[in-house]
Amino acid sequence: MPSQTITEITVAPIPVHYPKQVGKVAFGDYIGSERTEWLVRARTDGGLEGLTLANRFMGRFTSFDSATGTMSGLLALLREVFLGSTVDEFLEVSDGRAVGVHDAYVQAFQTHGWMSILAYDLLGRAMGVSCVDLLGERLKDRIPAYDTTLFYQDFVNPEKGAAQVADDAAGARNDGYTAFKIKIGRVGRWMTPQAGLERDVEVVMAVREAVGPDATVMVDGNFGYDHRLDLLEDFVRETLPAKLFWMEEMVSADVGDYRTMRRILDRLGSTALLVCGEEDGHPPGQVFVDLVGNGLIDGYQPDIVAAGFSRWHELKQWLEPAGVRAQPRNFGNGNLGRRAALVFGASAQSFVSLEDERFLPNVYADDDVTFRDGAYSVPTGDGLGLAVDSDVYQQKYAGLEVRIT
Ligand SMILES: [Mg+2]
Repeated sequence: MPSQTITEITVAPIPVHYPKQVGKVAFGDYIGSERTEWLVRARTDGGLEGLTLANRFMGRFTSFDSATGTMSGLLALLREVFLGSTVDEFLEVSDGRAVGVHDAYVQAFQTHGWMSILAYDLLGRAMGVSCVDLLGERLKDRIPAYDTTLFYQDFVNPEKGAAQVADDAAGARNDGYTAFKIKIGRVGRWMTPQAGLERDVEVVMAVREAVGPDATVMVDGNFGYDHRLDLLEDFVRETLPAKLFWMEEMVSADVGDYRTMRRILDRLGSTALLVCGEEDGHPPGQVFVDLVGNGLIDGYQPDIVAAGFSRWHELKQWLEPAGVRAQPRNFGNGNLGRRAALVFGASAQSFVSLEDERFLPNVYADDDVTFRDGAYSVPTGDGLGLAVDSDVYQQKYAGLEVRIT
């Protein structure tokens, strides 16, 4: 077994850009065109470098009195968990697969799932294998991806309204995407309920028209239909011709509401899958245990970076025998998050499609991953198969970094 020691860790806030202005959404105001990747690089005495993203820690800033969201808190955590540790002490390995987390790190990786991505990356690099193989086995060569940037683009350009969302979708189709997720839920916020319903329907129908009958179209309500199952029923009925593939978080997780929703879909003849669970933590909340156990959802979605590889490895083993898809959300995770979702997706039979924010390249070197016909190829390099472009980093971001040794 390899036994390299982690001797240096750097953290830097790397900007990452959308190719457009991303609009409002039920849960928040304009997303805008830029986000941050809190890039963590850990180096060993043997010259390996592993990567992860601390967005789930740095994105929750409450005050400088709190550890979460502050640089001092992050550095203390990274120092405690990683610095001076050897790359083989985090994960339990059997037959070349990571089968669990060693006791000393269970708590840390359950609370901070993103840290397990670094553990997998370093171990994969040390063993000379891809994280796909560490996670299980390479089940797929290509991973479908969906454009997830169809927010309330009608508000970005009110003159065009729903046609603006359709234009964005047509552009994405031109760029090779064949699957699209539309943010809806205007019922609950930003519009009056009836007008919000009408706009949601109009947008869905316009996008379907723009992307053609063979494309996959899904919607994400971000709970915008809470307390309005009557309007949800109208939405389902009026969008039937759009043949929606899945409906995500139309209402908050609740066994009664999901039962009602299933009945509505069955009665109206919709085949849409029901998916939810983005913000669920560890262990899965009782309501999600009940939704899975009662067959009321078809996909469960804790975030790939928030939950990390170690939790997703466990979740997959719970979900797949129950017939529920292992479908991590990937949002606000920059280009590293896309790579993490791609790697996980290649090792999970039930994974459907990568949530793709379509970020422009920023700090990573080109590698063997390509996008074509709506799908990415799976990386073959060791670990995540992802490397920082040292010239770009040096020129643009080295001045932003904080280092611990
Ligand atoms: Mg969502």
